[in-house]
Formats: sequence, structure tokens, C-alpha cells
Amino acid sequence: MSTNIENINDTNISNDSNDSKPDKKLIIPSLGFQNTGAICYFNSLMQCILSSTHFLRFILNDNKDHRFLSFFQSICNDLWNSTFTTELLHSIGNFQPNQSSSEYFLMVMDALKWDRLFECRHKMVKECRSCGHKNESVDISYNVLIDNSLEEFMKSECDLENVLCDGCKVKSSYRQQQFIHSLSPVIVISLNKYFGKKLTHYPSTLVFGDTATYNLIGTIEHFGGLQGGHYIARVRRFETHDDGNHTIGYYIIDDTKVIPITEEIFYKSVPETYMLFYELNT
Ligand SMILES: [Zn+2]
Repeated sequence: MSTNIENINDTNISNDSNDSKPDKKLIIPSLGFQNTGAICYFNSLMQCILSSTHFLRFILNDNKDHRFLSFFQSICNDLWNSTFTTELLHSIGNFQPNQSSSEYFLMVMDALKWDRLFECRHKMVKECRSCGHKNESVDISYNVLIDNSLEEFMKSECDLENVLCDGCKVKSSYRQQQFIHSLSPVIVISLNKYFGKKLTHYPSTLVFGDTATYNLIGTIEHFGGLQGGHYIARVRRFETHDDGNHTIGYYIIDDTKVIPITEEIFYKSVPETYMLFYELNT
């Protein structure tokens, strides 16, 4: 899937490596997190966020939140069944069981000041079909909500009727176009589950212009009803070996269960998917 945008906001994220592969400290073990009380929504969310190399670099180099850093270092040292997410949830405060991953994502981001990693700006242009008068505005989101198709995120167009026009001063028909204005290193997309439709396909990469490619690094699947159910994550992780070589591993992570899967299964679109995480390929 390809389109053009005006800006990629990668310049303010420090990069201490010229190598396209992440350095060793940006590789974390793929381990499960304990579900200490209806927190599968948060376990799955953190598994996807921790799959982002940009996020790990931000935490290790830029972030001044020592509280998160100490938690983060604890998972690097933990061998199995980490309580990282439980401790993090309690430190954030306002802890609630049985939340939606997508709604809680905004709360976590606000609490931990991660917003510049995830910011997406859409430009909206409305044009009067009678006199050509234009209104432009920019909409900022951190978790892009779509109803049915990723095309909506890339670009959308619709007609608005009976809009009182500032140009011709009568109620007119307007054309509304929305397209991406700027992006941060990580794109988070949520399917509007209240809309009731399912994504039938999502691509492994999103391409913007000639240079910016975003790779799929994680998805969250939701099973069950709107007020509860169960969440699991599929993730793509860099791994390092004793000889120093890197490979990419793919996993389904269901709380403490970490199940290796093939690349094909990771990229296979399934109807339970409702959140997608893409990151800029550097
Ligand atoms: Zn007009």
C-alpha cells in the first residue's frame, strides 16, 4: 500500500547507531507477562509496543522517566513470567481491569509522555462546490481509528451537504478530503470494533513516497464481546545470537504463553485483529 505525505517526524528521535540492524541493547527477550487480573489487554499492548526498535531506543536514550526505565530493565533480566505489566499499571495509577487495548493505549501514552513517538497528523480540506471556498485544518491522533479499510487512513474523500459556506454565504455542497500530513516513527491503527466490521486484509508494509517504509511489527487480536473477552498479541522481534548475528523471530504471545510462529502466520490477516502497529524502517 503506497501514498505520499509531507513529513516524517524522525529527526527528533535520536539514533546512536548507523547500522540498520538494532544494536544489542535494543533487543529484548520474547517472554510472557503474568495476567494478575484481567490485564490481557495491557499485556498484549505492551508486547506490541516493546516490538518497536524506535520505542526501545526512545526509552534507553531519550526518555527521562526512570520509573519506566527501571521496569524495562527488569524485564530484560527476567527469565520467565514477568510481572512487568502489573507493576507498570500500578505505577501509572488509575488501574482498571478489562479495558480495551486501544482506549487504554491513549491513557498510557499520556501518563508516560510517549506521544511524539506515535503522532499522526491528517490534513482536512473542505471545498465548496459552488464558489470554491476552502477550509483547511489539521487533526492530530495517536491511535488512528478506522471503520473498515486502511485506505481510510491513507486518504479519504466524502461529500458534505447543507454546509453554510463562508464564501457564498448559502448552504452548499462541500467536498471533504483528508490525507496524511505527517507521521512519527510508529503508527498505531485501531479498527473501530463498535462499527462491527472486520479488516479482511492488512499489508506487511505501508509505503509513503520514495523513502519511508513502515513495517508491521505487531497486531492485537480480540476474542469475545465488547465489554470483555480476551486479547493476544502477534509480534515480530529482532533476536541476537551468541555469534552476534541477528535474525527476526515471530511469536503469538498470550499472557505467559509465548508460541513461535512462522513469518507466513504472522502476516496472515485474521478477522479477530483489531490493532496494528507499524514502525519506520531505518
Ligand atoms: Zn461557497
